[in-house]
Amino acid sequence: MSAGSSEEDLDDIIDEICNDSSFTKTPLKLKFNSASLTPERNSVLVQAHGKRCFPVYLGGSLSPSGIGTNISKRTCDQLRCTACDFRVSLFNDYVWDQSCDYLFFRNNMPELSKLRAKMIKKKGARAYACQCSWRSVDELTDLQTEQQLRWVCGKHRE
Ligand SMILES: [Zn+2]
Ligand SMILES: [Zn+2]
Repeated sequence: MSAGSSEEDLDDIIDEICNDSSFTKTPLKLKFNSASLTPERNSVLVQAHGKRCFPVYLGGSLSPSGIGTNISKRTCDQLRCTACDFRVSLFNDYVWDQSCDYLFFRNNMPELSKLRAKMIKKKGARAYACQCSWRSVDELTDLQTEQQLRWVCGKHRE
């Protein structure tokens, strides 16, 4: 192996990298992320340029949903839990039964058919749940007042 041939090898490798069409089309960062993430998380990536609620509001079924701000008090419908990494599900006109516990959600999220067992119809309310926490909400509530909940706005598409 002379020094000349190893330089050529290096050139070949660089050529290969430059000619890799996926490399030139996709920014390096995005390519790196998409390789290690599940499809569900990829969809979050697509929303990366969306907007976040501030403050984040929860509310009953009559509260309009969308991006919440101080002047537009909409309830966030893109909530994500940072504790269990589940998307927060919400069900209009339902509350959770008193007997709900951690194990119930742990075992049944996010299967609606199973969750229904502990959902009670209540006009105007909204039942929220991730895999570790749950809330029944009747009126507009600032998420900051719910200290136990580790929910955040998962960003909205424009
Ligand atoms: Zn939001
Ligand atoms: Zn959770």
